[in-house]
Amino acid sequence: MRGLRVAVVGGSIAGCAAARALHRAGAGEVVVLERATGRLQDRGVGLGIQKERYAELEAAGYLDAEMPWIDLARRPWVVRDGTRRAGRVIATLPFPYRSYSWGSLWQELRRRVPDAVDHRTSTAVTAVADGPDGAVLTLGNGREERFDLVVGADGHRSLVRAAMLPPGRSTASFSGYLAWRGTLATEQLPDPAEAFPEDSATTVAFPGGHMISYRIPGTPDGDGGARVNWVFYATPPTHLADALADPESTPSTSVAKELTDYQLDVVARHLPGYWQDVVHNTPEERRLLQPIHDVAAPSYARGRLVLLGDAAAIARPHTGSGALKALQDATVLGRAMAEAPSVPAGLAVYDAERAPVGRTILELGRAVGRAHVQRTPDWAAMDQPAFEAWWQANGGPGIGGRPLGRG
Ligand SMILES: Cc1cc2nc3c(=O)[nH]c(=O)nc-3n(C[C@H](O)[C@H](O)[C@H](O)COP(=O)(O)OP(=O)(O)OC[C@H]3O[C@@H](n4cnc5c(N)ncnc54)[C@H](O)[C@@H]3O)c2cc1C
Repeated sequence: MRGLRVAVVGGSIAGCAAARALHRAGAGEVVVLERATGRLQDRGVGLGIQKERYAELEAAGYLDAEMPWIDLARRPWVVRDGTRRAGRVIATLPFPYRSYSWGSLWQELRRRVPDAVDHRTSTAVTAVADGPDGAVLTLGNGREERFDLVVGADGHRSLVRAAMLPPGRSTASFSGYLAWRGTLATEQLPDPAEAFPEDSATTVAFPGGHMISYRIPGTPDGDGGARVNWVFYATPPTHLADALADPESTPSTSVAKELTDYQLDVVARHLPGYWQDVVHNTPEERRLLQPIHDVAAPSYARGRLVLLGDAAAIARPHTGSGALKALQDATVLGRAMAEAPSVPAGLAVYDAERAPVGRTILELGRAVGRAHVQRTPDWAAMDQPAFEAWWQANGGPGIGGRPLGRG
């Protein structure tokens, strides 16, 4: 890596981690190109990191005990049947997770990017071309810059992935369903007496979807104290789903209004009263819609281009592993580039280790999506043993991510 000029396209979770990893691996110059202006901390909501995976990432230097987090222990699954305002518990599973707010995790990773890295915001990359004398990036201002290695950390609509693969292999496809996310301050929760213990990730199971909710820390310079994070999944009517099928487009205002009406209808029809209040008490500016897309690049490296994070493969949110996978990708990329005798050799090691993980998580996401959203069982008829058997057979054990292995 000595003397090499490296560009990282995208300065979110994968981009910050990759910049740090490649600087530590000895790259001569690392430049991060992020099109967003300023800070990204308001982009996401909450996320969980499984505790064994946390230990691996702490050892790799990406996470540490100083970062704000909340200790989660159990996952009660509830259904609405009128017996209890917060729902009747059908089963409870262990939930050994640390929860983070997306914003504070990003801030901490950004803080760990060494000063020597040239981190440019408001800098969009508009074209990527690989060639024998280097990879050339065209920037939004029309200028071109040449690099020895270009790292695509540019998310699910990755331009770097599009430059590596034919269109049919590089474009994300719509899963058919949506996630709605939101956060509210814990003081805005309905009556605490009705709530579940604070270490719970309560999941409301309903026909055609589910909603998970757990506490997350506030961001240090943002919203102060602990918040409650919720995300629920449901399949919208076909004409609304069709309007979201193109991952490059943003829903029009009329589609957005219909989607909101649909969301509120799902809440009214399926959530127990307590959880309806949780959604309704969430300020509108704290709710976001995330269409669920799939893509996994068959190969993570070609020529001077390499992918990681969502650009390489999307982990659907209910696999509990999007941010985790991005950090693991960066860890392996940094290690491979530091240890290999040449750049192509390092990229080959990285590709061989991480591309299969991306494909596995993609398949897990599809299986979980089918069972937990698109073809839901009769949850209300289940008891603890029946639920555990269903969980084992429907992707449950894979949720939370895979160990960070070697080779
Ligand atoms: C709307 C949305 C909300 C999400 N919310 C959550 C959440 O609440 N919890 C959770 O666990 N996960 C969430 N995720 C997923 C999670 O953010 C990712 O799995 C994880 O952050 C890894 O992402 P990444 O860094 O690979 O890509 P991203 O976080 O998508 O970052 C890609 C970055 O690249 C930049 N970029 C893209 N194209 C260009 C370009 N041409 N030039 C320059 N810069 C470019 C983007 O501005 C962005 O900052 C969300 C994803 C989306 C799309």
